[in-house]
Amino acid sequence: MPLSQLKFGSRRIYYNNFAEHLLNAYNPNMTYPGLPHRWSDEDWRACIDMIAAFGFNVFEFWLVPRIFSREGLGSPFGREFARQMNVIAEHAHGVGVKMEFIAGLATIGDDWRTACPHIPEEWDEITYLWDQWTRRLSGTDIVGLYPGDPGGCSRNGCTAMTYIDRCCDVAHLVKRNLPRASVELCTWGPPFFAWGNIKGPADWKGEFLPEYQHTAWDFDRKRAEESMGHLLRRLPDYPPDTAVSINLGFNSDGVPSGDQDARPWARAIAETNAILTWDFSLTEGENAIFPHCRFERLFAQRRLEREAAPYSGGICFTMTPRLNQLSLYGSALSFQVPDADPAAVAHDFFSRAFGPGGAEAGRFIPLFEIVPDWGNHVTLDIGREAFHGKMTGLVDLLESLRGRLSPSLPLIPSPDVYLAELLFFARFFAELSGRSPEYDALRAAYWKRVYAIYDLLPRHVDPRPHAATDNIVRFFREWKDAPIEWNHGP
Ligand SMILES: [Zn+2]
Repeated sequence: MPLSQLKFGSRRIYYNNFAEHLLNAYNPNMTYPGLPHRWSDEDWRACIDMIAAFGFNVFEFWLVPRIFSREGLGSPFGREFARQMNVIAEHAHGVGVKMEFIAGLATIGDDWRTACPHIPEEWDEITYLWDQWTRRLSGTDIVGLYPGDPGGCSRNGCTAMTYIDRCCDVAHLVKRNLPRASVELCTWGPPFFAWGNIKGPADWKGEFLPEYQHTAWDFDRKRAEESMGHLLRRLPDYPPDTAVSINLGFNSDGVPSGDQDARPWARAIAETNAILTWDFSLTEGENAIFPHCRFERLFAQRRLEREAAPYSGGICFTMTPRLNQLSLYGSALSFQVPDADPAAVAHDFFSRAFGPGGAEAGRFIPLFEIVPDWGNHVTLDIGREAFHGKMTGLVDLLESLRGRLSPSLPLIPSPDVYLAELLFFARFFAELSGRSPEYDALRAAYWKRVYAIYDLLPRHVDPRPHAATDNIVRFFREWKDAPIEWNHGP
C-alpha cells in the first residue's frame, strides 16, 4: 500500500524528549552519566513494553545537540548513548515498535550553535555528523529531519528553501547508510522554524541567543507560500517513502486560522507522500510538570485532523514518562479512537492501572490543569475553596487505594510508585490552594522532588525549570478567590 494511503492514525509516535533543558525526576537522563535519573537497559525495556501496550508503534527521541556534536561522538557519554539506543531498538523491534530519531539539520553541541550550510566547512561538519550518527544508530527505522527549535539559520542568505534543499541531500545520505530506514521531513514552525526569519546581531555566528528566539515564530504569508511551494516542487527528489510532518496550522498550537491555515498544503502533500502531525502542544506543554489530562482538546484536534487531510499519525510528546502515563495512554488512543469520550478514557485507564477501585481518580486529574501553560486550553469553572476540596478528595481516594492495587496494565514505574507520585502532587496542589500556604517551603519541596538535578549542573543556555516552578507557585499566590467557609473534611 502506498504510504500516502495509510489509515488515519496508523503511525502512533511516542516522542520522549529528554533534552538537556527538560531533565527532571520523571524523564531519563541520557546525557549526564554520574547524575541521577539514569535508566538501565531494563528500565528502557519496561518503558517500551508500556508504550507498546498503550498502542504506540514508534519510539521517537531527539538526538540532542549535546550528542549531535564532535564531543558527543568522541566522549564516553555519547558512546554509551549509542549503545543503549541500539539495545532499546532490538527490544522495540521484538514488540512491534519502530525506532525514530530526529535532529535539527544544523544545530550542534552543548551551546546549541547552529552551523550555516552556506559556509562550506560548516556544511562539511553538518554532513559529517549526519553520516556518523546514522552509522552509529544502526537500529534506526525512521530518521526525522527537523528545522530546529532551537536551530535554523538566516545568515549568509539561508532561507527555508535552503533547509528543504539541504535536507534532501541528507535524506539520500540516510538512505545510503541505513537502506531500510525512511525519512520524515518536519515543517515545524511558521513553517520551517527560524530558517530565513530568525533575527540576530550583526556579528552573529549562529550562537543560541534566547532574546531572539521568538523571532523564529514571525509569520509571513509570502514566506510560507514560497517555502511550501518549494517543498512541493522538491519532494519528488526525496526518497519515495519520505513522510512529511505538517500540523493543521503554522503556529505553535497547530491552529488552522487565517493565513496560518496549513490544511491545503497538507492535502497537496498527501497526494504523493504520507503526512503526519507534529503537534507538540497537545499533551503536556514544556516544563509544566504535574499530572496532565488535556484530553478534550487532544481528541478534538484528532477529529479535526481526520476531517482535514489523510493524516496517517503523528507524535505524542512527553518529558515525564514516569508521571504522565494517563496522558500517554489517552494520546495513543486518540489516534485509534478519535471519537472516544475523554472521561471514559481516563476512567478506563485508572481501572486498569490501579484496579476497579481506582477508576474514580480519572475525574480528578484534569483539575491539575488549573495552572495556565502553553498548549493548555482547559477551562475550569471552580473557586479556590472548591478546588482545595477536590484535591483533598483525591488525596483521600489515593490513600484508600494503598495496598489494594490490582493492576492489569504494564506500567513504569510500578503502580504503587506511580500512586505515591500522584499522592505527592495531590497533596502539593491541596496545600497550595489551602488557606495560608507556606509558598516558599512548598516551592522548595517541589524543586527537590522534580528538578533537583539542576543543582548539580552548570547553568544551561535555556534555564527554564526555575521559571516553570515559579509559574506554578505564582498562580496560587495570585488566585484570590478566598473561601468564606472552610471545610477540611473529606
Ligand atoms: Zn546560513
